[in-house]
Amino acid sequence: MMDLTQKMRDKARELLEKEEVKYVIGWEKGTFWYQSPPVFISRPEDVDKLVWDQFCINNLSKYLLDFKHLEGKIALFVKGCDSRGINRLLQDQQVQRDAFIVIGVPCPGMKDPEKAKGLSEDKADQLQLAEKCATCTTPNPVIYDELLGDEVAAAQVDDVERFARVNELEQKDPDEKYDFWKRQYDKCIRCFACRNVCPACNCRECVFDQAEPEWLGKRVVSSENQFFALTRAMHVAGRCIECGECERVCPMGIPIMSLNRKIIKDINNLFGSYDAGMNLEDQPPLGKYDVNDPEEFM
Ligand code: SF4
Ligand code: SF4
Repeated sequence: MMDLTQKMRDKARELLEKEEVKYVIGWEKGTFWYQSPPVFISRPEDVDKLVWDQFCINNLSKYLLDFKHLEGKIALFVKGCDSRGINRLLQDQQVQRDAFIVIGVPCPGMKDPEKAKGLSEDKADQLQLAEKCATCTTPNPVIYDELLGDEVAAAQVDDVERFARVNELEQKDPDEKYDFWKRQYDKCIRCFACRNVCPACNCRECVFDQAEPEWLGKRVVSSENQFFALTRAMHVAGRCIECGECERVCPMGIPIMSLNRKIIKDINNLFGSYDAGMNLEDQPPLGKYDVNDPEEFM
């Protein structure tokens, strides 16, 4: 990983010195040894902040939206899951492909910083892969301008493993299912972290933020939380790239991926196997964005 860190720094320095980009987005060392949060670098003298280690877990693709109106290009480093987020944004016509440079980094799987809290650094190797990485089938970027390092072997994750939590929930009777999801979403504080981190939640104005009409009431109560949960789940249906970021960032530990994967499983059964964000050509099974969409309901 040290070798890739140096390659990332060299690449970032080259792009900034030649003024090919205004910003490079990657990861840096955080306050604690188990944190490698996103970093935004605009000066060649800062590229040594960049790191590539086992905690570069954040999906950086969503940040493309923050630089959408920037004059000049940006560059960003992407793992396999991040790169599927880029395809998501391109397919939704939220970003222009010539506005950014993608530098791919093959990913061996990341560790969950939350699980490392309280551990000393010498125990780092004992940490398991983060849950979202344990069932990853796309460790290598699927879209990039340049790939740093050698591709890594993809884990053989079958659907039994991928949908294990879904299969378990499907065994419950309808009342038990309702009780389970009610208990889960009663915990939701509507911080919107799941939405904010999601590359598939990329509307210019989110329906949950609209005041007129007010689709979602401000009160954090069961009925509003359930409306929020189901609306978001259906919004990403057929478009979710399974990056697992929504569940990772949820401060209340809500198993959001069980909901996402239930829908993915049903869509696959109904319309054939489809993995969102793998390429730009395959159209999402439930529909696609068109610039001529009338949006008469808005
Ligand atoms: S991140 Fe969790 S608590 Fe926050 S809005 Fe989403 S589901 Fe609710
Ligand atoms: S719903 Fe969750 S897993 Fe799906 S794309 Fe959004 S953040 Fe990633």
